[in-house]
Amino acid sequence: MATNPKTEPEVNASPATAAASSNFLRDIIREDLRAGKYTHVQTRFPPEPNGYLHIGHAKAICLDFGLADEFGGKTNLRFDDTNPEKEEQEYVDSILDDVRWLGFEWDGLYYASDYFGQLYDWAIKLIKDGKAYVDDLTAEQVRDFRGSLTAPGVESPYRNRSVEENLDLFERMRAGEFPDGTRTLRAKIDMASPNLNLRDPIMYRILHASHHRTGDKWCIYPMYDYAHGQSDSIEKVTHSMCTLEFADHQPLYRWYIEQLGIFPSQQIEFDRLNLTYTLLSKRKLLQLVNEGHVHGWDDPRMPTISGIRRRGYTPEAIRNFVTAVGVSRTNGTTDLAMLEHFLREDLNRRAPRAMAVLRPLKLVIDNYPEGQLEELEAVNNPEEPAAGTRQVPFSRELYIEQDDFRETPPPKYFRLSPGREVRLRYAYLVTCTGVVKNGQGEVVEIHCTYDPATRGGNTPDGRKVKATIHWVSAAHAVNAEVRLYDTLFAKPDPNQTEEGQDFMSNLNPNSLEVVPQAKLEPSLANRAVGTRFQFERLGYFCVDPDTAPGKPVFNRTVALKDTWAKIEKAGQGR
Ligand code: ATP
Ligand code: MG
Repeated sequence: MATNPKTEPEVNASPATAAASSNFLRDIIREDLRAGKYTHVQTRFPPEPNGYLHIGHAKAICLDFGLADEFGGKTNLRFDDTNPEKEEQEYVDSILDDVRWLGFEWDGLYYASDYFGQLYDWAIKLIKDGKAYVDDLTAEQVRDFRGSLTAPGVESPYRNRSVEENLDLFERMRAGEFPDGTRTLRAKIDMASPNLNLRDPIMYRILHASHHRTGDKWCIYPMYDYAHGQSDSIEKVTHSMCTLEFADHQPLYRWYIEQLGIFPSQQIEFDRLNLTYTLLSKRKLLQLVNEGHVHGWDDPRMPTISGIRRRGYTPEAIRNFVTAVGVSRTNGTTDLAMLEHFLREDLNRRAPRAMAVLRPLKLVIDNYPEGQLEELEAVNNPEEPAAGTRQVPFSRELYIEQDDFRETPPPKYFRLSPGREVRLRYAYLVTCTGVVKNGQGEVVEIHCTYDPATRGGNTPDGRKVKATIHWVSAAHAVNAEVRLYDTLFAKPDPNQTEEGQDFMSNLNPNSLEVVPQAKLEPSLANRAVGTRFQFERLGYFCVDPDTAPGKPVFNRTVALKDTWAKIEKAGQGR
């Protein structure tokens, strides 16, 4: 059932303090300010607009915005849009939406493409300084010449061109004289460096492709590694926080900044968020969308911000989760149950309760007057008295869950069965007196009698019943489609596959179950998209955008059972 607030760990609720638990990023910033390395704090969140943001990005966002905020600093949102072939305005728009929804507002909004002119001028400077050259090798040859971790690289035969020749060729690359892929501009660093990123990395490639912002102005595009560090520097970013896979690139970013003598941004790496039963890679998520395994980026099974938002997650739950996960310098995997724990904890506080029956079984109260209607008082949220109460209609014919009746009850089954008395939530105690079966011998209707003295669920004689079940008045029920979700992948690590298979083989075939004819209490009709409820005993639900007038659609956000609380108790958390 619902979690007990007294046993929950302390969490921070506001975005300003979302990163307030101890972490080494904060320690570094504090020390840099103390030592006078920087006099201000400027961070940035730098997504590439080639997909929708996912919960891993939420971690980066909370750190970038949260830490800057703590030190009175600023945070830019910058689109690292150096790759025209994979980038689209749709992604830009979704990212803006998602960052705002998480609760953050950026100071500057920039695009790496804003800096294409400056980056070009800097490339010219590096050429003039003898630190960059035009290479006629193809990208493939460049790769072959680069060597490996064990073999040194081989210098390109074009490495020692004159400055004049390089300037001429680079200008002609820009002017569109050469076909795609025929030449590159490379930094002249060190082909024997143990760090492969320093073996004369490519700075520019030729690509006659339209860019989502600069259109056809450019036919040469800077590589991410040539654009990223200088973009930080242009924005006077002090602490450029990113995930661990960029650690090996840091010396290259520094090299460019030092050669150009520009503002020294400091990169600091932290661990990527990984979650069990899902994937946090835009490339793989795109594949799921493109191949139709999910119904778009905002499918409620997706770990995207737009997916989990549609599913009913709250920004507070995500921020609290990210704070609790913390940061480290080694990559690990976090239990999905931990995310769900923070979700339940937040929804328990805020979601009004309601009654809904997913798999209806008709219950007829034989001694209840036909045509009689009572409005019974139900509590909206036991966690929040101010939420008040509402009236729920009660009548002779009700729906209960099929699961709440067993003709032959197994041991420890205390719900309804012939001869057994149970409490109907907020209503009366009823005793099962008989069943009606169809031709196949299945129970299609159950009959009961009620005790009029137990209105509201109390027993004047003090007798006890062991179960309370939920119900909906049949004549007043609202029909709805309810979508139940299971994990998108069947394995904790979706990338763990049989030989010759890929992560697709681990898709969970039962990740979506549609309940077509659920019965809802009437207060649930016509609720706004995104409204969240706890359906008593069933979980947290929210109104899906597919809802149409008279045809409500609800998503189950998460079931009530909190496996994380159990895991945590057993000390098996991350
Ligand atoms: P993906 O692998 O999903 O494509 P990415 O790193 O290529 O992710 P970017 O748009 O470049 O995506 O990411 C923007 C920022 O978010 C980067 O600073 C990156 O380090 C950070 N980030 C991306 N994925 C995660 C993650 N799983 N956990 C924490 N931060 C992440
Ligand atoms: Mg990236």
